[in-house]
Amino acid sequence: MRSERKESMRIHLNHLNMIYPTGKLALKDISLTLESPSLVGLVGPNGAGKSTLMKLLVAGLLPTGGTISVDDVPLSRCEKKLKEKLGYLPQDFGLYDELTVREFLDYMAALKGIRDSKAAIESAILATGLEEKRKARIKTLSGGQRQRVGIAQALLGTPEFLILDEPTVGLDPEERIRFRNFFSQTAQDKLVLLSTHIIEDVQSVCDRLIVIDRGQILFIGRPEELVLQARGHVGVFLEQGGDEKTSALRIISRVNTAEGVLCRGVAEVLPQEARSVEPTLEDAYLYLITQE
Ligand code: ADP
Repeated sequence: MRSERKESMRIHLNHLNMIYPTGKLALKDISLTLESPSLVGLVGPNGAGKSTLMKLLVAGLLPTGGTISVDDVPLSRCEKKLKEKLGYLPQDFGLYDELTVREFLDYMAALKGIRDSKAAIESAILATGLEEKRKARIKTLSGGQRQRVGIAQALLGTPEFLILDEPTVGLDPEERIRFRNFFSQTAQDKLVLLSTHIIEDVQSVCDRLIVIDRGQILFIGRPEELVLQARGHVGVFLEQGGDEKTSALRIISRVNTAEGVLCRGVAEVLPQEARSVEPTLEDAYLYLITQE
């Protein structure tokens, strides 16, 4: 059931600020553009502001400063239209434990006002591999299966814009790989924004990365560009037995070898004894975060 020619969608955030009533500044001067089709990874440590940013995008929160526009129309004037095109998996997604998977999806489809709900539900069930669990009560599902139900409801009605807040939480490694590929496939004709604190989830599938920390954007660009920034700042060396001389060094891993403990670390200036190595995306991310 493919729709005709899809127009691309453009969401622009302009100098966005979010201060919670408690006084907490959760986002500070965020400006960025999201355009379909693409798979964008929103990465940052816990508390960085990822969920807040996503809630603002789905108009679940109002910013205390700045504006959001969708195809050049302010969000306040196109909220209903955006919601029709939107699939959202919030982080603290509550499921109705007594309902079966099918009943729950039926209910969500009704809330979304989806006309051909039967076909929409079946396609979401297939996409998330829940065929065997159609009639299972949600309270009997494992953590990973519940997360899949959450993803299935976000997919109802084949939305043009998917916002997934930590979609891989609770999934086992195999499921995570499956979903990574699935999101990458889905993003071919959509805008998919997925947040995670696990850099592996976005490695090799995202076209763009947005790294935020403490409410501010540290990086927007292609994953390879982030890796380039860390060149010359990642090294391996044998642990000397005492505190390392470089105070700003962050050790990523320690491995026991015949020669001693081999450390891998990132730093603005590597210790003299370190041999510089090609950064991975995870190294580059940690380098960026530690620079702050
Ligand atoms: P992330 O999703 O990256 O973990 P959040 O967006 O949930 O980060 O939170 C960003 C910051 O805002 C954190 O310091 C968090 O404690 C704070 N925060 C989140 N929600 C609220 C709220 N409803 N009221 C007050 N502070 C909040």
